[in-house]
Amino acid sequence: MEALMHFHLRKLHAVLPRSLSKACRRSHHCAAQHARSACTPPMPVTPMPLVSRLFQPSNLREGQEAGGLTCHSQRLMLQAGLIQLSSPGCFHYLPTAVRSMEKLVRLIDQEMQAIGGQKVDMPALCGAELWRCSGRWELMGKEMFRLRDRHNAEYCLGPTHEEVVTELLASQTKLSYRQLPLLLYQVTRKFRDEQKPKFGLLRGREFYMKDMYSFDVSEEAALHTYQSVCHAYRRLLDRLGLRWVQVQADTGNIGGTLSHEFHLPADVGEDRLLMCGNCGFSANVEALEAGRMDCPQCLTQPLTESKGIEVGHTFYLGTKYSQVFSAMFTNAQNKPALAQMGCFGLGVTRILAASIEVLSSEDSIRWPRLLAPYQVCVVPPKKGSKASEVIHMAEELAHHLGNCFPNLKGDVILDDRTQLTIGKRLKDAGRLGYPYVVVVGQKAMEEKPVFEVVCQQSGETLFLNRDGLLDLLSGVETI
Ligand code: ATP
Ligand code: MG
Repeated sequence: MEALMHFHLRKLHAVLPRSLSKACRRSHHCAAQHARSACTPPMPVTPMPLVSRLFQPSNLREGQEAGGLTCHSQRLMLQAGLIQLSSPGCFHYLPTAVRSMEKLVRLIDQEMQAIGGQKVDMPALCGAELWRCSGRWELMGKEMFRLRDRHNAEYCLGPTHEEVVTELLASQTKLSYRQLPLLLYQVTRKFRDEQKPKFGLLRGREFYMKDMYSFDVSEEAALHTYQSVCHAYRRLLDRLGLRWVQVQADTGNIGGTLSHEFHLPADVGEDRLLMCGNCGFSANVEALEAGRMDCPQCLTQPLTESKGIEVGHTFYLGTKYSQVFSAMFTNAQNKPALAQMGCFGLGVTRILAASIEVLSSEDSIRWPRLLAPYQVCVVPPKKGSKASEVIHMAEELAHHLGNCFPNLKGDVILDDRTQLTIGKRLKDAGRLGYPYVVVVGQKAMEEKPVFEVVCQQSGETLFLNRDGLLDLLSGVETI
């Protein structure tokens, strides 16, 4: 074990610059001592993220725009090297996009676990039998990706998991009312053979969804759970700083009796929403009687129409699925009873794209603050310029921020492409949308160095000394 550790560290030293290597040796020394006493290997050293090393291919070709199926967020995401098309409706998520998505998943985990959610991970390959039991093998039609294994057994690639999770629960023979409510959720790839995949991550054929399934002892308890999940969804969208609307929705082929959708208002949205300015009633057109334009709640007011991108959908299912699979628990009277269910979807990749869609300007991405792939980008002066003597100051600053500030750990990137002018790199930084860009230029050469800080969210540019800068950045919330 020890030998292996030394080998890894030797390899690491070979790729690190000299000055850093020394620091590592020092920390290795401490870590090795620690290791001997507590038998834990030293923490691996994470190198400073460098813009020159980012795998960020920008592949926006003329032809891709011509299809008429692109939108603002798709163009920006292609341009910034966040995603790349693989086949219709299927994308590579490139490193910067993965960082944002991981942040979003952490946020989702926090909110789901705050209301008692437990994370699971169910198979994507789902046996046809389950779907035949619920009647949805036929109902799902062409939207379902179907395949056969070597024994000729039929499967689908899960477009949603009501059947799978209900059967999982039904297999627990000793479930007691004391264990309910039970909230199981996962963040996994879903597969839907959409008729028209379009708008990048907004409508893919393979996409990430957070789906949660709830099991309760009674209808009343299930409705209570339903409300608490809706509340968690509202909190999550608020924490992202997004403007959202919750509307009454149609239950579609998932079924059930009560349903809401969460939308981000946007012109590119494919759903038509109707809202009442008087009583606050709001609904998806699909959930109202055809042609109805007056408010069904306060009757007199006409409804106004807008468009929205559906980012979340909640359903109260009752016993629709628990009945089919006999998902039972033992109640307080020691009798078996059917679980009352709810299901709750959030489009993870759709939220990423939709928030870029609604927040960004024409040519630069603006992220929900928490989801920016890196919070801070440090830009040193150009090599060979008058200010080039402070290049090392920029490097030191980036290391200090990225290693000593717990909130910024791993969230600081150095634009080390010092062969380019500061202006060119600022332009790139704007395009990717780092919330803070710190320029170490001419002003950093003064006796008391001053840094230029471009705050993308407020649009301000601040001139701060080192203490002021550290103060500002130590307050940045990250996840
Ligand atoms: P839509 O009406 O947009 O096709 P849906 O109502 O069929 O969506 P649900 O079954 O409610 O979708 O799925 C839950 C969530 O998953 C949706 O609210 C949406 O955010 C996301 N989602 C659904 N389909 C896609 C897709 N093709 N690409 C990306 N995200 C999707
Ligand atoms: Mg839906």
